[in-house]
Amino acid sequence: MGAVETSETDCVVVGGGPGGMMLAYLLARNGVRVTLLEGAGDFEREFRGDTLSPAVLDLLGALGLADAVLELPHAKATGLTWHARGRDYKLLDYGAASRDHPFMAILSQSRFLEFLATRAGRFAGFELRFSARVNRLLRSDDGRVCGVGYRAGGIEHEVRAPLVVGADGRFSVLRRLAEIPSRECGVGNDLLWLRVPRYKDSDPWLCGFDLFSDERGLGSALNHDTHWQIGYAIPVGSVEQARARGVEPIKAFIHNTLPWLDERAAELTDFDQLKLLSIRITMLERWWLPGLLLIGDAAHVISPVGGYGIGLAVADAVEASNVLHPILAGRHADPSQDADGARALDEACALIEARRRPVVEDRQRFQERLEARNARARAKGMKAAMAAVAKGKQPKGGGPRPIRVERLQGALPVLRRRVGTRATKAIRMPRPILVAAPESVRPVNQASAADVAA
Ligand SMILES: Cc1cc2nc3c(=O)[nH]c(=O)nc-3n(C[C@H](O)[C@H](O)[C@H](O)COP(=O)(O)OP(=O)(O)OC[C@H]3O[C@@H](n4cnc5c(N)ncnc54)[C@H](O)[C@@H]3O)c2cc1C
Repeated sequence: MGAVETSETDCVVVGGGPGGMMLAYLLARNGVRVTLLEGAGDFEREFRGDTLSPAVLDLLGALGLADAVLELPHAKATGLTWHARGRDYKLLDYGAASRDHPFMAILSQSRFLEFLATRAGRFAGFELRFSARVNRLLRSDDGRVCGVGYRAGGIEHEVRAPLVVGADGRFSVLRRLAEIPSRECGVGNDLLWLRVPRYKDSDPWLCGFDLFSDERGLGSALNHDTHWQIGYAIPVGSVEQARARGVEPIKAFIHNTLPWLDERAAELTDFDQLKLLSIRITMLERWWLPGLLLIGDAAHVISPVGGYGIGLAVADAVEASNVLHPILAGRHADPSQDADGARALDEACALIEARRRPVVEDRQRFQERLEARNARARAKGMKAAMAAVAKGKQPKGGGPRPIRVERLQGALPVLRRRVGTRATKAIRMPRPILVAAPESVRPVNQASAADVAA
């Protein structure tokens, strides 16, 4: 290795997604020096989770940031509605989830991350480095993780810190480098994504986050105000077969379920216009090692079904900040250099995992059951299953539990209660602990009162 540029900080966070960005913001606001390393050159990204649930919005409210975030272009989803056989079934009502934010904001993740980075930049201890794709863990003589390494601009960089937080997403490099064993849970579907323009004046009103099904399949439509993000489910691992069939089955599905999009769906002529989201649900044996903590998708990949991923990553970040900042803030010496400090850090990481793991695994198991049921339905043939469901019969040889569509209306209060309770439980947000204004706050003229006062 040639020249190495070395720096040191209190905490290095790898990955500037919702989890890493929120953690870096909260730590910086609580007086911790934090360096955020993001592998990409900027925050621009398409087809990522673009939803902020009522619980995340309430958290932003508690941080004094909600009003400013909601000034960014966004659409509001009032609930989750399933449209099947010409009827609409409201499964989730966000109105019940929050007094201040009774909706889910559909807002570009890129703009949200940019916003958080700008706010974090008001605190002197915060540093953000783009194009910093981490590829090495640094370890001390006793095997403790004590920093990370990456190559940028032809130079090797090392950032040393008492704690490294891996928030580097579903394909986490840090998880792989740390050799933490993981288990892939079964999933039944992958998703193909398509973006089409939204005509505000003529498109029908949907509730913002809508599911559609016919005898051909299952899809979703997310209202991004300026465009629709359409998802189409295919059996897991079957993208090559889907490619061979081409775009016609998807156009036929859109024609059946969203006929007012026909003209715009005609623009879909090439399979490469679709983006594949391979759904994964991954559980890890543990979320931390001495000197290293994983949060967000790096610790627990979750399927996009239900829109939990961002909420869970942000909740991990809040919990991590609450537990870690008293240990990391305002230190002149590296706490991991003495036995007591190292033990305190290890206990903090164990505590974060203990608090967050049950909530996350509850969601993952729920999704695993859902995926298994979908896979059984698909194996039996969606058409046969739908016909059997309509007759209130169990399809031969097993298959999905029969629900008479006509009877679903009557069962809705129970269904809503069950789905709603789960959803609320899943996204309950820890309360952020904020200390008095650290001396390191940069005097920025336009800083909001809440930012500086906290
Ligand atoms: C197509 C799609 C749609 C989704 N829809 C929703 C939705 O509607 N609602 C919802 O709640 N969730 C949704 N999700 C899931 C959600 O986006 C994730 O759960 C969430 O973003 C996880 O946040 P995170 O911070 O843990 O990781 P990520 O958002 O994945 O961020 C990880 C970051 O780490 C960076 N990185 C990776 N490797 C390195 C490295 N070696 N060095 C430095 N940086 C690195 C990446 O560039 C990235 O910026 C969706 C996901 C996808 C893919």
